[in-house]
Amino acid sequence: MGRVYNFSAGPAVLPEEVLKEAAEEMLDYKGTGMSVMEMSHRSKAYEEIITEAEADLRELMGIPDNYKVLFLQGGASQQFAMIPMNLMKNKVADYIVTGQWAKKAASEAEKYGKVNRIASSEDKTYSYIPDCSDLPVSEDADYVYICENNTIYGTKYKELPNTKGKTLVADVSSCFLSEPVDVTKYGIIYGGVQKNIGPAGVVIVIIREDLITEDVIPGTPTMLTYKTHADAKSLYNTPPAYGIYICGKVFKWLKKMGGLEVMKERNEKKAKLLYDFLDQSKLFKGTVVPKDRSLMNVPFVTGNEELDAKFVKESRAAGLENLKGHRTVGGMRASIYNAMPYEGVEALVAFMKKFEEENL
Ligand SMILES: *Cc1c(COP(=O)(O)O)cnc(C)c1O
Repeated sequence: MGRVYNFSAGPAVLPEEVLKEAAEEMLDYKGTGMSVMEMSHRSKAYEEIITEAEADLRELMGIPDNYKVLFLQGGASQQFAMIPMNLMKNKVADYIVTGQWAKKAASEAEKYGKVNRIASSEDKTYSYIPDCSDLPVSEDADYVYICENNTIYGTKYKELPNTKGKTLVADVSSCFLSEPVDVTKYGIIYGGVQKNIGPAGVVIVIIREDLITEDVIPGTPTMLTYKTHADAKSLYNTPPAYGIYICGKVFKWLKKMGGLEVMKERNEKKAKLLYDFLDQSKLFKGTVVPKDRSLMNVPFVTGNEELDAKFVKESRAAGLENLKGHRTVGGMRASIYNAMPYEGVEALVAFMKKFEEENL
């Protein structure tokens, strides 16, 4: 059985080179006589792994010295609580709701303070990004929150919101390292790594130092306080050690590929192939407003549920896996993250052409 083209939204495809390297090192990591899975997180070998992973990520993203990089657990969903617990000094935050994940984050924050939903695209099933150039940002907001790439709906902010001087917090789970980023525009950038970086179990938080304080909401657990993890360099307790090791390998792979500028070009080329096909297709249709289209997640439909189901079934048989769309959008979704090769998108488009000829 060979490998398939895996279009899963997450956990998702990883670079084959990285998986092969990990396999080679499985029983004996660099002469230690043990797997990274079996290693103390306080060992010299592991210290090198986590230190290098952070250094490589800093280099890739150009993370300034006044930002900390934290490797945490609990998934992106745990950050929905951790962010308000640590940042809500005035107990007010503004949320822009562009999908399920931002909506969940806003509801969670409501447990800790006042949440103003200053914009939303719920009226059209989150198929667009609202105009965020002049929003009614709250005078006393502790931060403005966005989900930068909406995994389920396939939209992406092409321009960051005008936060009128307030701290921007962004969930980048599904667009992490897909293109260059100006870290200085954000207070917090965070994401679960299982979409575009590594195995599930690690969430990376890039946080500006002035946001790391002891002044958190009373009752905040030690483990949910950023300062705990920042002070301990992500080694307060046992970190998701093996996951961080794989992330580190992906960072090295990205550097070898040429960095984020090159990844952006590759991702644009892949997405263009699929969107161009959708735009001329007589059977398939993209569900997102063209200017807000994501480079990572591409939802599309035929408009006929039975035909959609037939497509998913037959695509599987053709070695194209996990194309079924999210239940709230229906149809199909192709997630074409960094590790999806151009050939995978070519194979998908060729299959779609054939399916269109047979079913129109
Ligand atoms: C998958 C996803 C989440 C949830 O991630 P978990 O790690 O499962 O909590 C949150 N935000 C975005 C944008 C996602 O794609």
